[in-house]
Amino acid sequence: MITTTDLKPCPMFINGEWIEGKNLPGLPVYNPSTGEVISETPLGGADIVNQAVQSAKEAFPAWSETPPLERVRVLFRFRMLLEENFESLSELITLEHGKTLGESRGSMQRGLESVEYACGITELLMGNIMENVASGIDCEMLKQPLGVCAGITPFNFPAMVPMWMFPLALACGNTFILKPSEKVPLSAVRLIELLAQAGLPKGVLNLVHGSKESVDAILTHPDIEAISFVGSTPVAKYIYETGTRHGKRVQANGGAKNYIIVMPDADIAKTVDGLTGGAFGCAGERCMASSSAIAVGKAGDLLVPALVEAANGIRVGPTDRQPQPNMGPVITGPHRDRVNNLIAASAEEGAKILADGRSPKVPEAPNGFFVGATVVDQVQKGMTIDNEEVFGPVLNVLRADDLESAIALAQSSPFGNGTAIYTQSGRTAREFKHRVNVGMVGINVGVPASMAMFPFTGWNDSFFGDRHMQGREGADFYLKSKVVTSRWFAKGEGDVWRKA
Ligand code: NAD
Repeated sequence: MITTTDLKPCPMFINGEWIEGKNLPGLPVYNPSTGEVISETPLGGADIVNQAVQSAKEAFPAWSETPPLERVRVLFRFRMLLEENFESLSELITLEHGKTLGESRGSMQRGLESVEYACGITELLMGNIMENVASGIDCEMLKQPLGVCAGITPFNFPAMVPMWMFPLALACGNTFILKPSEKVPLSAVRLIELLAQAGLPKGVLNLVHGSKESVDAILTHPDIEAISFVGSTPVAKYIYETGTRHGKRVQANGGAKNYIIVMPDADIAKTVDGLTGGAFGCAGERCMASSSAIAVGKAGDLLVPALVEAANGIRVGPTDRQPQPNMGPVITGPHRDRVNNLIAASAEEGAKILADGRSPKVPEAPNGFFVGATVVDQVQKGMTIDNEEVFGPVLNVLRADDLESAIALAQSSPFGNGTAIYTQSGRTAREFKHRVNVGMVGINVGVPASMAMFPFTGWNDSFFGDRHMQGREGADFYLKSKVVTSRWFAKGEGDVWRKA
């Protein structure tokens, strides 16, 4: 297990050198299980971003001309190092984020799969060709890298979300600047150490730390071609609008509110497993969290008592030691207070708190940022707890008379990240998946998050842009197309014209 004495203030990586940013203001990084400060994030601004962009710009010509097979050899080595360091990286994620070790391992596995997908980039770099678009004229479409790209990431998946971005961007021949969340910078530092160890040439990937000032410098820098962002909806919208206004290609994933419909014919035991795993996994800090159940008709009679029993059985506690609890803390003290206030508001607005996680007993870690598993029943449209993305271990239960009104409820939210239905009826499931206005749909799967080979298709206010992250669409985001139209003349063919 990593101890806090192993952790130095968090460095940046520019042009192959580690920089400490000693003269910069800093923000504390916490171990959410204990409330202890374990590191500090230096807050870089335009100056640091300019240095990183300069280094990425200088590295671009050589990296983009490196044969793709050589580029992916670096990623294959990186993948091997990720496997070798899988356990210590999982522990680091747990230390700075607070999710359980099992959840950290799960997120590392998903990150690893994104690297594996990027290792197969050669297939996706192929263009196409058509002969004789007109007589003797051929047309070919080439795919070429964009140049310097940047990634700005959220706190809730400190390693996985960065790995949605830079492996594909680098495999496509771009150079990259990563700006991780200032709340969880340590896992990103470790990833970049391993990438450097894998033999990535200097300047190809640069790591900067900071918050709004550094992001604004990225958004407006004339030498950055494309920006990938994952975070909350207001910031995603701002990133998209500002980045595109400055001529950049932008993909920006935002927040979510995911509704899970439970039909009267659902297998209740499996539904309860799926819903509680989806709502309370990672302490609810997931953009694909199953944060709201819609019980249709009589489904609520069995479902709600079973959900309450399951929630009361979830042991919350510190994740930085053994034995592991079922659920860890949320990210910070202010975030814990916000979640508690939203639970309190739900009761004030008429909902019923059936399992109340506001004051969990965790004597072994009295200063950790804990909220217990909470179930709020009789939630109505328009209540604050329904309007807001809670991003904590809170499961709302709403009621609907039939599928029609359940679908209407599910899509009355401005978000459109994930949704699911629990039913034993193929016809009901088919109707739901066809009609629902949400980008990732589960059928008897509570967290239908796309895997690396499929795009992560948030819709509506959960995504701003036109090419999603991951999969073929994710690779296309980091490539531009060029169409070459060519013809060749026979020797002396032009003489006919000259003689005329
Ligand atoms: P956040 O929006 O607060 O921060 C994300 C990033 O934006 C960070 O790197 C931060 O430094 C930067 N940032 C924050 N405020 C900024 C501002 N005003 N101007 C410029 N940059 C700013 O998000 P968070 O709290 O770190 O993460 C949680 C959010 O991310 C949730 O809303 C969650 O749903 C969302 N999320 C979405 C997905 C997805 O794929 N849709 C995945 C993971 C998380």
